[in-house]
Amino acid sequence: MRLVFLGPPGAGKGTQVKILSRILGLPSMSTGDVFRAEVASGSELGRLVQSYMERGELVPDDVVIKIVEKWLRERDVKSGFILDGYPRNVRQAKELDELLKSFGVELTAAIYIDVPEDEIVRRLSGRLTCKKCGAVYHIEFNPPKEDLKCDLCGNELYQREDDREDVVRRRFRVYMESTRPVLDYYRRARKLLIVNGLGSIEEVNERILNKLRDVKSSEGL
Ligand code: AMP
Repeated sequence: MRLVFLGPPGAGKGTQVKILSRILGLPSMSTGDVFRAEVASGSELGRLVQSYMERGELVPDDVVIKIVEKWLRERDVKSGFILDGYPRNVRQAKELDELLKSFGVELTAAIYIDVPEDEIVRRLSGRLTCKKCGAVYHIEFNPPKEDLKCDLCGNELYQREDDREDVVRRRFRVYMESTRPVLDYYRRARKLLIVNGLGSIEEVNERILNKLRDVKSSEGL
C-alpha cells in the first residue's frame, strides 16, 4: 500500500503512522522529522528550513519535493510506503502523483485524520517530543512513565518550538489555506479516506485499519 496522511497539526498523524508502519511492515517518512534532524545537526539544509519552521510556515516546495523524491528513489515503491506530513499543498500532491507515475505505480489512499480546532490546541499545548527518537507524549492524555523521559529510549522530552501557542495558531492558518485544498484534490481522485481522529490512539488506529481493509477488499489486494 502507498499511503499519505493528512490532517491539521496535532491530529495524531505521526503517532498513527509509526504504529501503522509497524503493523503493515511499510517504511515511513515524516518530512517534519527529517527537517528537525537537519536543524539539530546544524547542516546547511537545517539552517535554511529553521526559519520557516520557527514561524510555523511551510518550507519551500522545491526543498521538500527533492527530499521526498530522494527518499522514494531509495526505496521499493512497489512494495509500499507511508508519508507523514507530505503533501502539504496541491502542488506537492501533484508532484507526488507525477513521481509515482514515473515509477509505474499510483497512490493507494490519502488518509485524513479529522480533529476539530479546539481539540488541536488542547493537544499541542501539552505535547512532549523525544529529542532523540521523536516519540510523542502528552502531559495529560499519554504521559511518559517517568517525568520528561522517553519510555522507549530514555532520552529527554521537550516541547517543540513550533508547539508554542502563537506558532500553533499560525500553523493552523497555514493548514487551512494550503493543506485543506489537498482534501478536494484526493476526493476528486477518489482516494480520500476520512477517519474520525477523536478518541484514544488505539480507537483511531482501529478505524484506520478498518478503512484500509475496505480498500484492500475492493481492490482485491
Ligand atoms: P510537522 O512535524 O509535520 O508538523 O512539520 C513541522 C514543520 O516542518 C512544518 O510546520 C513546516 O514548517 C515543515 N514541513 C513539514 N512537512 C512539510 C511539507 N510537506 N511542506 C512544507 N513544509 C513542511
